Amino acid sequence: PETKLPRVGTTIFTVMSQLAAAHGAVNLGQGFPDFAVPERLVDALARAMREGHNQYAPMTGIPALRQAIAAKLARVYAVQADADTEITVTSGATEAIFDAVHAVVRAGDEVIVLDPAYDCYEPAIELAGARAVHVPLHPRTFAPDWDRVAAAITPATRMLMINSPHNPSGAMLSATDLDTLAGLLRDTGIWLLSDEVYEHIVFDGARHESVLRHPELRARAFVVSSFGKTYHCTGWKLGYCVAPPALSEEFRKVHQYNVFCSFAPAQHAFAAMLEAEPEHDEGLGAFYQAKRDRFREQLLGTRLLPLPVPGGYFQLVDYSETSDLDDAAFCRWLTIEKGVAAIPLSPFYASPPPGQRLARLCFAKNAATLDAAIVRLQKL
Ligand code: PMP
Ligand code: GLN
Repeated sequence: PETKLPRVGTTIFTVMSQLAAAHGAVNLGQGFPDFAVPERLVDALARAMREGHNQYAPMTGIPALRQAIAAKLARVYAVQADADTEITVTSGATEAIFDAVHAVVRAGDEVIVLDPAYDCYEPAIELAGARAVHVPLHPRTFAPDWDRVAAAITPATRMLMINSPHNPSGAMLSATDLDTLAGLLRDTGIWLLSDEVYEHIVFDGARHESVLRHPELRARAFVVSSFGKTYHCTGWKLGYCVAPPALSEEFRKVHQYNVFCSFAPAQHAFAAMLEAEPEHDEGLGAFYQAKRDRFREQLLGTRLLPLPVPGGYFQLVDYSETSDLDDAAFCRWLTIEKGVAAIPLSPFYASPPPGQRLARLCFAKNAATLDAAIVRLQKL
């Protein structure tokens, strides 16, 4: 058949998780926590199901959850977002990204993506009949080169995607970055998609610079987040999109016919959780910083060189002291021969930097899991 995504295979996350399972490796590859979801949230989910919230939710999300999200945005970012016209609950950030692209990107358009980029961006763009234009981030700091971004803008550019804190590197955009970006987009018709799923996982006293805080960018942006990252429940697949009313209206047309509505019981559970324990997201940075610091300390006893991690729950390591394999081969070898699964960076690129020797390790794990991995990594 004439296929639409000829260059797409099985995602690297699935491939490495399967390889880890087949070889009994400690899985630091695919990004997901191996510790418990907050008890209060599990109770709230069970209660929602017992109370009968098992049928379709309103298409845009239950009002109590949209209002709780609006209250969170006011608390955390001191911004006003209208629960009825600007917030839409989705089946994870993945669905939100897909809907945002399909709401505004047409066949023949171009979408600027900063590499390395999360894997679901380009397929969404291609399915819309558009083309991803890849601009590399700095190969070590993963900072954007805004001059190169400016040079990539053409009359066909319809959207630009950013992701902070960044997967896979953890790099974060600064307020100055957002100002520079606003200057680039001023007087253009380019929409912005800001993937902020790791918004609460930031370290060392840094502040996450949400696009929602930047009125000029917010006016042209779809801002996407995910409850999976914040509440340790990636399998629940619930997220949301914040966009100005006119953009939300278009976004909802796609959401309506993509899924219609998202998992209703979880919407009730998060509405209850956000109301009862708003400080959960405020403690997330410290919670993960303790894991990051301990893991980095342990890595000093290996031949892997840890790169800085400003945010998110991934640690990049430079393995060039232990191996000359390319990153895909190294991660396979590490999984099969050494019993630790990692994610190579090359699948996040259209053109990986030649000679790059980096692998991604997820530290959203119990201490025992990380300890077991370190014992194996010490033998490299
Ligand atoms: N964007 C980024 C940068 C991610 O890391 C992830 C999850 N790994 C997603 C989007 C997707 O989020 P969700 O699981 O809520 O669909
Ligand atoms: N976002 C997760 C990661 O980066 C993977 C999610 C998935 O498997 N699709 O590891």
